[in-house]
Amino acid sequence: MKILSVNAGSSSLKFQMYEMPEEKVLISGTFERIGIGGGMYTIKINGEKIKKEQELADHSVAVKILIDELFANNVIESLDEIKGVGHRIVHGGEKYAKSVVIDDDVIKTVTELSDLAPLHNPANLIGVKTFMESIPNAIQVGCFDTAFHQTMEKCEFLYPVPYEWYTEYGVRKYGFHGMSHNYIAKRAGEILGNPNAKIISCHIGNGGSLCAIADGKSIDTSMGFTPNAGLMMGSRSGDIDSTLIPFIMNKTGKSLDEVINDLNKKSGYLGVSGISSDSRDIEDAAAEGNERAILAQNMYYEKIVNYIAEYYLELGGADAIVFTAGVGENSKLTRKAICDKLAPLGVKLDEEANNVRGEEKLISAPDSTVKVYVIPTDEEVMIARDTYSFI
Ligand code: ADP
Repeated sequence: MKILSVNAGSSSLKFQMYEMPEEKVLISGTFERIGIGGGMYTIKINGEKIKKEQELADHSVAVKILIDELFANNVIESLDEIKGVGHRIVHGGEKYAKSVVIDDDVIKTVTELSDLAPLHNPANLIGVKTFMESIPNAIQVGCFDTAFHQTMEKCEFLYPVPYEWYTEYGVRKYGFHGMSHNYIAKRAGEILGNPNAKIISCHIGNGGSLCAIADGKSIDTSMGFTPNAGLMMGSRSGDIDSTLIPFIMNKTGKSLDEVINDLNKKSGYLGVSGISSDSRDIEDAAAEGNERAILAQNMYYEKIVNYIAEYYLELGGADAIVFTAGVGENSKLTRKAICDKLAPLGVKLDEEANNVRGEEKLISAPDSTVKVYVIPTDEEVMIARDTYSFI
């Protein structure tokens, strides 16, 4: 049975098609610059990558090309072979603790939740509506980035602000990267042979969040009301003193939107180093002795270590620490710096094993008190699994 896993942004659309339940990827691709001119798309099939330049006036044009490519590459002979389309939706608020089959009610609720994710939910919904029209016989499933974290307790998810902010306006920690942390929870549980294991999942990419997991459930996570909370990231500040915002507005004459934009797009690695949001550039500059790059690295590591230590206590110990996403899967330097700082907890890295990229591997020494793994994340397969489960 064929299932499509879709991630629609305001000007992009990523997809993977799976044969289920085997979880075999048949074809995948990305459409970029939809509706803004200079459109292009790439398709990956049988280890081959095809790139084409093509104006993409809107999402429906991209989906039409996607379907044409499925036929042209002999992935399908009839649209009816596609039984389900799973959509990544960023915000499910408190309404969705699990993936759901999308109907008019769900569309209405996700639209209302756009208040909480104005950049993402409307774009995700465009994807949903386009696929509903293009592949009407497939069930459409919504998979929420926030859903996995709905198991957090009030003590963890509330902010110490007037309680009415929560009851009246939904101000609370929601957490994100849920599909990824859920994948890590399941995979690490399998590797450890213990679905009840205590796991600290470190999803560190361009965006980044940590998650404390016990019994396969999210106990706490570092992102908050929005994804600009918690860790220092590629270009996001993570947690700051909120009073910085009016102070900088007064000093610079910038508008609220401009300051928020600075905190999302000009902070983190980029802001501190003045060089780049990409950890590869920071690593290169630091190796050449650039002081601000070294400072940015140290700040980045420290925030992650602080959260690991916090979650270690919150969980009452940990069976495994897992590194995943772009930086976590690829940067041995970052993993080593973090594990070295965790020595007081008895964490010990196997430096030879740590010499790994994008591959599932145990990287801690045999006498480490906590096992440390690299596990490449797979949000797309989680979407495909959830979608399949409804058929
Ligand atoms: P996103 O949050 O956009 O999904 P990813 O998880 O794909 O991001 O992570 C992208 C980031 O991963 C890059 O910006 C870069 O900082 C980091 N990265 C990728 N490869 C390497 C590498 N070999 N060494 C260090 N960092 C890397």
